[in-house]
Amino acid sequence: MVDLFGQYTKIKLEIDQAIQGVIDSSSFIKGKDVLEFESNLSKFLDIKHVISCANGTDALQIALMALELTQGDEIIVPAFTYAATAEVIALLGLTPIMVDVDQDDFSMNIASLESAITARTKVIIPVHLFGQSSDMEPIMTLAKKHNLFVIEDNAQSLGASYTFSDDTTQKTGTIGHIGCTSFFPTKNLGCFGDGGAIFTDDSQLAEKIRMIANHGQKIKYHHSVVGCNSRLDTIQAALLNVKLRYLSTHLQARKEAAVYYDQHLGNVSGILLPTQKSYAVHTYNQYTIVVQNNDRDKLQSYLKEKGIPTMIYYPLPLYKQDAFSCYVREGFHLSNTEWLCGAVLSLPIHTEMKKETQQFIVDSIKQFYS
Ligand SMILES: *Cc1c(COP(=O)(O)O)cnc(C)c1O
Repeated sequence: MVDLFGQYTKIKLEIDQAIQGVIDSSSFIKGKDVLEFESNLSKFLDIKHVISCANGTDALQIALMALELTQGDEIIVPAFTYAATAEVIALLGLTPIMVDVDQDDFSMNIASLESAITARTKVIIPVHLFGQSSDMEPIMTLAKKHNLFVIEDNAQSLGASYTFSDDTTQKTGTIGHIGCTSFFPTKNLGCFGDGGAIFTDDSQLAEKIRMIANHGQKIKYHHSVVGCNSRLDTIQAALLNVKLRYLSTHLQARKEAAVYYDQHLGNVSGILLPTQKSYAVHTYNQYTIVVQNNDRDKLQSYLKEKGIPTMIYYPLPLYKQDAFSCYVREGFHLSNTEWLCGAVLSLPIHTEMKKETQQFIVDSIKQFYS
């Protein structure tokens, strides 16, 4: 599915130097590379504040903690997402409210979102799934109308962007009140372990977020709020500084691989290809097709026999996971989410895709349908 080693070998010298530099300084926690990386990322995103943390799940948790919510407050999430999005809500004693997604781009359905808003709703968490932005303009309009916070789960879409109807374009993660991302190795900007970051233009929120991520202290050994310990290691920050310089090149490589699939799978009947929305620049963290006629599992086994790995993101709606079933009434059902869980298949895509490999994948899919 990915070729992390291949990507590393191309920039090995710079990465090795960056890591060795941290070892030489032995400033493993809060070394200078951490603030440097935060500043570099804030320039890339064009946002005032970037606070790094230990992983993307922590980023979401800390963002929610900063909003001072109370038990029973409702947080709206799409039901078709990675569990982390809802997990942090439940952990904080808040209530996840799951809404449906659109069939074509897998992100929060606006009608479903609107009908889920109640007097207890406090936050909307749109997830920019598989590398493409959610439809942020109507989400921000609804949030404003109902006085809600928006936390963007941008774990899969760093570098993606969204264009509003007035033609202004913003990077995903910088549109809502707070944006969160992950540097898990297979994300658009991946480190060599775990890492995450939180973004905001709101200086007061930024200060609170930084404090929460650092045991609730602004001054050492003076703890104003209950926080947590969530830090990006200096080694990870140092190599992320190198990899951030290659992010545009890497996103371009993903885009080219996606274009190849688009061109060569376009006329295969039986599958639907990912939609590139006119308002979005897609970063193809995943290339996810929808397999019609209940053929998904058969196609997956067929490809597996040929040595082609594929993944099912995600096989179950959040509300059918044992951990989250208690948040919905019996028989709760979202039709698009359920249809997608039974039909999606993510094909290999990464920054080092070779044309021959892609050709073999494409030919194999065509053979399945011939
Ligand atoms: C990866 C991911 C996360 C969590 O990131 P971690 O760094 O693994 O904690 C959260 N939300 C989504 C949508 C993700 O894909």
